[in-house]
Amino acid sequence: MMRRPFMPGPHAPMPGPHAPYHAGPASRTLHAMAVRFVNWSQTVSACPLAWHEPRSEEEVVALVRRADAAGRRVKAVGSGHSWSSIAVTAGEMICLRRMDRLLVLDRSAGRVTVEAGMRLGKLVQLLWCAGLAPPILGSILEQQVGGAIATATHGSSLQHGNLSSLVMGVRLITPAGEVLDLDERDERLQGARVHLGALGVVTRVVLRVEPAFLLEEEVLPLPLPEAIERLGQLARSAEYVKLWWLPPSQDVALFRYRRTEAPRSYRRWAHRLDEVVVNRLLFAGLLRLGAAVPVLVPPMNRAVVRAYFKRWRQVGAPHEVLPVAMPPRHREMEYAVPLELGGEALRGLQVLIRQRGLRVNMPVEVRFVRGDDAWLSPDFGRPSCHLGVYMAECSDLRAYFDGARALLRELGGRPHWGKELSITAAEVDRLWPEAGRFRALACALDPRGRMRNELLDAVLGPAPEPTSAAMR
Ligand SMILES: Cc1cc2nc3c(=O)[nH]c(=O)nc-3n(C[C@H](O)[C@H](O)[C@H](O)COP(=O)(O)OP(=O)(O)OC[C@H]3O[C@@H](n4cnc5c(N)ncnc54)[C@H](O)[C@@H]3O)c2cc1C
Repeated sequence: MMRRPFMPGPHAPMPGPHAPYHAGPASRTLHAMAVRFVNWSQTVSACPLAWHEPRSEEEVVALVRRADAAGRRVKAVGSGHSWSSIAVTAGEMICLRRMDRLLVLDRSAGRVTVEAGMRLGKLVQLLWCAGLAPPILGSILEQQVGGAIATATHGSSLQHGNLSSLVMGVRLITPAGEVLDLDERDERLQGARVHLGALGVVTRVVLRVEPAFLLEEEVLPLPLPEAIERLGQLARSAEYVKLWWLPPSQDVALFRYRRTEAPRSYRRWAHRLDEVVVNRLLFAGLLRLGAAVPVLVPPMNRAVVRAYFKRWRQVGAPHEVLPVAMPPRHREMEYAVPLELGGEALRGLQVLIRQRGLRVNMPVEVRFVRGDDAWLSPDFGRPSCHLGVYMAECSDLRAYFDGARALLRELGGRPHWGKELSITAAEVDRLWPEAGRFRALACALDPRGRMRNELLDAVLGPAPEPTSAAMR
C-alpha cells in the first residue's frame, strides 16, 4: 500500500486523506502502513503502527489503555516541529490537533486553560481578542501547546522564562490510562513543565497570561566585537533582546523590544512578503546557490547583512513582532550556556568559523532566558544565553555542527530538547541536578516504558521493561 507522507508545518499536506485542518467530523485512526510521519525539517521520519487523532480525553484514555494491554509503545506528537527524534515511534502515534479548544479563561487570575493540541497561533489570537497576551513567545507559532512546553520552547528575555515557565497546571493521561491533574501545589509539576513527552499524554494545560500590551521593536546594527564584550549588559538593556550574526560579517543585528503605547505600525502584508517572497523564494534560492557554489556564501552573506541588518522600528502586538517570518527548511542545534559565558561562546564560534574556513549560510542566533526550576529545563537554576547554530544543507554543515557542539558542551551548555541532539543518560545527570527526580517520576508514571522511544531511552536510561525492537 502506498504510504502517504505527513509533513507537518504550514505549507504541508495533512496525513491521510487531505482534509481541512479543523474540519474533521470525528476522531480518526489510520492503521499500519497508511501514514508516514515526517518532521518539519525532514530529518526524522517514522511509519507508526497506527496514527490516531482523538477528539476527547476519553478517547485518549482508551487508546493508551489498548496500547498498554497490547504491549505497544505509544507517543504523542505535536506539530512535528522538533529537529530531534523526540516525537517519533514505530509504535502508535497520537496527535491532538483535533483537541484544540479554549476551556477556561480566567481574566482576573491571569490564566487560561486550553486543550494541549491548540497551536500557539490560535492561542495568541484567542487571547488577543480577549485583551490578553502571553508574556513570552518564540520565533514561530506553529507548535502545539503540549509540544512547545515538552521541550522548553523559549523566546528571548531575561525578565521572562521559557514557555514552560508559564505553565500553572497540566492534565496528563498516564500510560496506564489514569487521569492525573498537576497544579502548582504539586512538586511533580516542576517535572511536567518540560515533560519530553515521557510522562503521558498531556491533554490540557493551564498557562499564565497578562493583559494585552504593545511592543516597540527596534533593530540596530552593532560591531561584533562590541556585542561580544557587552553581551550581558546588552541582554539586560530591554525586556526582550536578541542578536543575529551572519558570518563572516563583522556586524550583528541587535533586536530590542520595549512596551509602548505608541500607535501600531506593524503591517501583516510586509510579514507575508518576507515569508513568501524573501524567505521562500529569494533566501531559499540563495541557499541553493551557496550549496552548489560554496565560495559564493561569504559575499552573499555580506550583501544580505548590508540589505537587512539596518536600523528598523515597528510597533505591534507581541505575537506580531516577536516571531519571525517562517524560514526556509534548514537544520538547527542549540545550547544554553550560563549567561556569563555567552560572550565567550560567541567568540568561540567566531574563532571556529574563521580557523576552519567554514562557509556558514544562516545566522547564529543569540537569545537570553531567565532561570527556572523545571527539572529538565535548559534554564534550570540559572539565567542562560542560548546559542542557536543554524545551517541549510551544504558541505560544511557537519564540521560546523561538530565543532560548535564540542565548544558549547565545553562551556557547560545544555542542549535544546527539540533541536538536533545526541546525548547520554550520564551527560543528562551531569548537566541537570534534578534529572534523577525526572527519571523517577517518568518510571513511576510509566513503569512499562510505553511512552519511551529511542531518544528517551538514551536520555532516561534503559526502559523499566524492555520492549521488542519492532516497538521502538
Ligand atoms: C522553524 C522553527 C522555529 C522554531 N523556533 C523555536 C524558538 O524560537 N524557540 C524554541 O525554543 N524552539 C523553537 N523551535 C523548536 C520547537 O519549538 C520545539 O521543538 C517544539 O517542541 C515543537 O513543538 P511541536 O508541537 O511541533 O511538538 P513535536 O515536535 O511534535 O513534539 C515535541 C515533544 O512533545 C511531545 N508532545 C507533543 N504533544 C504532546 C502531548 N499532547 N502530550 C505529550 N507529549 C506531547 C512529543 O512526544 C515530543 O516529545 C522551532 C522549530 C522550528 C521548526
